Amino acid sequence: MTIKAVRGTRDLLPPETESWNQVEQAAREVFALYNFHEIRTPILEDTQLFARGVGEATDIVFKEMYTFEDRARAQSEKAQSLTLRPENTAGVVRAYIEHKLWERPGLQKLYYIGPQFRRERPQKGRYRQFYQIGAEVIGPPSAGSESPARDAEVLQMLVSLLQRAGIKDWNLQLNSVGCANCRPAYNEALRQALAGVVDRMCVDCQRRAQTNPLRVFDCKVPEDQPTIETLPRIGEFLDEPCREHFAEVLEILRATGTPYTLNDRLVRGLDYYTRTAFEFTQGSLGAQNAILGGGRYDGLSEAIGGPKAPGIGFAIGEDRFVMALSAGEAVPSSSVPHAYIAPLGAKMNAAAAQLARELRDQNVSVELGDDSFRLKKSFETAEKLGIAKVIIVGENEVASGQFAVKDLKNGEQKSMGREQLPEVLRRPARTSSSSVTEV
Ligand code: AMP
Repeated sequence: MTIKAVRGTRDLLPPETESWNQVEQAAREVFALYNFHEIRTPILEDTQLFARGVGEATDIVFKEMYTFEDRARAQSEKAQSLTLRPENTAGVVRAYIEHKLWERPGLQKLYYIGPQFRRERPQKGRYRQFYQIGAEVIGPPSAGSESPARDAEVLQMLVSLLQRAGIKDWNLQLNSVGCANCRPAYNEALRQALAGVVDRMCVDCQRRAQTNPLRVFDCKVPEDQPTIETLPRIGEFLDEPCREHFAEVLEILRATGTPYTLNDRLVRGLDYYTRTAFEFTQGSLGAQNAILGGGRYDGLSEAIGGPKAPGIGFAIGEDRFVMALSAGEAVPSSSVPHAYIAPLGAKMNAAAAQLARELRDQNVSVELGDDSFRLKKSFETAEKLGIAKVIIVGENEVASGQFAVKDLKNGEQKSMGREQLPEVLRRPARTSSSSVTEV
């Protein structure tokens, strides 16, 4: 039996990995412009972190986590329950608390890039190991962490990122989900409204109505949607501070020309969100069209034993981001080496390796052949790889220091000195994957 990648996971192969790198590169550039810095937290965390931070009644914690008992190291020790992180915000906030990051000046503006794990039903755009690029702004209220200016700045940064990466046809959906002060009244109204209709809804909704009625809005079952439409709306229940906060976020967005759509059904899947909640959808993605989601989580730090530390953040689904890119025009070209080195004749591998090293040291990318190849085979190999130029390294070339460089596109062959090679080989720019097929 052949061993395959685990269901819901996949290998990312070249040249697709080039698109991933480009997305990550664009993200890092934009994060730097907004003064965000990278944090890397472990993939394994104590299960309690997610139970308390994400919320036991969420689908993620209730049914999607990869959790296992670690082996106890000693008999006296209790086995610890560990979980592969299903998201990264809880890990970042844990690190904020563990390292007392509030003692550092200003707000903490942190970003991460990495895999997350959820045991969802796999389909296009939905995987069990998927990748997120996310960022968080967190800090004590005295540093301005509660300000609507932070929400608007994070949203603007996302728009910059989408634009820089070349994603088109996106839509920003926004809502306010209130806070610990005003949400209980809304929850109660929701509970009452659900009491009369819930037996017509799916089993998940029946459970949600009991445990956390707000989660009913996570329901994707088509038959339940008309019922969900009749439920009360959070907007009518916001208290004055939440209302003002949201109004100011919208005002800044309008002032900076950031388009948005209000969506009062948007609650997001996690318990720790307060006030601003948002999602960006993208036109080409089909059923799984949410390319990123985020929001404010003013109560999260306290929920996991930390000080008051309001924050706002988001997570981009990198898998979907890359899919949206390849659906548009911005398909990145794969890079092809500048030259192929063809050792000619027996025992020429060492001389070829020496030249390869010199060229690579001067930022010329090369693919190295083998002295067991005849010249014809070297040319054919270079051609298959889409490499336009072949440098022949035979005994004569090594002795004279003059190398024959064959251009496979026009068949011309020129002789040139070692010192000329880097210049000539770097010009013209690397061949793109589209021209590979022309060769
Ligand atoms: P969430 O952490 O649930 O707020 O999700 C943020 C973003 O991550 C979503 O908008 C998706 O783009 C992406 N995402 C979430 N779950 C998956 C998954 N199972 N497979 C691929 N992408 C996902």
